[in-house]
Amino acid sequence: MFGLMQDRPLLISSLIEHAATFHPATEIVSRLPEGPVHRCTWGEMRGQSKRVANALQSLGVAAGDRVGTLAWNSWRHLALYFGVSGSGAILHTVNPRLFPEQIDYIVNHAEDKVLFFDITFAPLVEKLAPRMKTVTAFIAMTDRAHMPAIDVPNLLCFEDLLAEQSDAYTWPEFDERTASSLCYTSGTTGNPKGVLYSHRSTMLHTLMELAPDTFGASSRETIMLIVPMFHANAWGMPYAAAMVGTKLVLPGPHLDGKSVYELMRDERVTFSSGVPTVWMMLFQYVDANPGLNPKELGIRRVGIGGAAVSRAMLERFENQFGAEVVQGWGMTETSPIGVISKLLPKHDKLSGEELVKIKLKQGRGVWGVDLKIVDEAGKALPWDGVAFGHLLVRGPWICSGYFKGEGGSVLDAEGYFPTGDVATIDPDGYLQLVDRAKDVIKSGGEWISSIDVENVAMGHPAVAEAAIIGVAHPKWQERPLLLVIKRAGQEVTREALLDYLGGRIAKWWLPDDVVFVSELPHTATGKLLKTKLREQYRDYPLPTA
Ligand code: ADP
Repeated sequence: MFGLMQDRPLLISSLIEHAATFHPATEIVSRLPEGPVHRCTWGEMRGQSKRVANALQSLGVAAGDRVGTLAWNSWRHLALYFGVSGSGAILHTVNPRLFPEQIDYIVNHAEDKVLFFDITFAPLVEKLAPRMKTVTAFIAMTDRAHMPAIDVPNLLCFEDLLAEQSDAYTWPEFDERTASSLCYTSGTTGNPKGVLYSHRSTMLHTLMELAPDTFGASSRETIMLIVPMFHANAWGMPYAAAMVGTKLVLPGPHLDGKSVYELMRDERVTFSSGVPTVWMMLFQYVDANPGLNPKELGIRRVGIGGAAVSRAMLERFENQFGAEVVQGWGMTETSPIGVISKLLPKHDKLSGEELVKIKLKQGRGVWGVDLKIVDEAGKALPWDGVAFGHLLVRGPWICSGYFKGEGGSVLDAEGYFPTGDVATIDPDGYLQLVDRAKDVIKSGGEWISSIDVENVAMGHPAVAEAAIIGVAHPKWQERPLLLVIKRAGQEVTREALLDYLGGRIAKWWLPDDVVFVSELPHTATGKLLKTKLREQYRDYPLPTA
């Protein structure tokens, strides 16, 4: 027997309708690629989203067609989020930090019908346009005065295009399992693969994300989205912001420490989210300007994910900014939230080391995500916080396979998705990431967690960033090599650093050598690019070899 409740589909268009109806005057503040700050409201955003939907119709974009974007966080990108998906087309957010050949590969693979781009990317678009076979129109996301002088076929101006359209549009109703957006993984090996989200998966993920034990945002908050809207739907935050009508601050391409700091201060941001590398830029700015008092920002919480939060980062946010750190673990394939770190009531009586240890775990399972860790043979391992194995996840916002079947069938017999990560889970359900399976260092048959050693190294006051990689060793198979960027104006020697680590990690985890570098390579989503480092240091002569 079925229940007798209304079977209303869960559609993304309902989010913008809600925000415009119940929070019409709440602001959306964007720092545009052109420079100035732009202000509009959720009420106006509905009109703009509907103009986008009408514009798509005029361009011949039908339901199910892919609409590409190469764009920063701004009101224009937000109008595409709601206008494209709301109309039944699929928003394909392209990561502009990918290599140009990967960009044209994915635009062709997705068969994007039209491409919207910020003027920052005009030279890139001009270069790639001849290779983008399916794109029938290129729309520069700017006004008439800032139109780029580039030679691409059917070049249109976003603000002119919208101005020509009516803001009257009735959102279509369709099956909630319809695809809504598409995002390719950055593919450090092989071609990027497409993750195709649905309206249903997006809406369920949004509801989960707003719960108090996850990000817990409400209409009383001001959210600044530093995580890019081209990376896993900015962790779903644009949808969450609309669902509760928060004031939204979008920094555009201005992600340097100074710009982020000033926008946070001027707009009274209370919650912000981003990967560790952007926070490091903010810290560098604060270091370089000792007169600043980051507590003046009034930021209450920061969401951090994409890479591990180091103890130094956690303590700096708590002590210097007065902000709580909410770590999350996830991936493009998981929408992206898999686990979120929030404390349980029983932790209230903890302090010092015991508390820090829990705060540095990636987080606990949220409703909707089933977790398991397994050994090499696929056998489930205990949740004792010690046993570590391959992490698999299952749930209504976890991908079931890649766009166009790339990579074949990916789920195990129980329907779990293998994440490629290695983790422990403790009896309270807190997951702690040991490493990406391919980054773990295999020394004498045992595993060394590069994440753990990096975290400890980053606690040294002279270390700005650290990376650990495995280098071939004749006796131990692999041994760790530590690469370090020193903090501006600080000095430390190899010996002093090894001494510092010596007291804090197992003896056999101690790096065999330290190399001081001026920069470390990162992926398009801000992670250390270990494949490149391993290649670069493949023949490094370890003193112990
Ligand atoms: P990419 O496109 O670069 O793969 P994803 O965001 O999908 O970008 O990357 C997901 C991976 O990032 C995870 O599999 C995990 O290895 C890493 N990751 C995400 N969150 C965390 C975290 N809080 N701590 C450590 N690693 C993390």
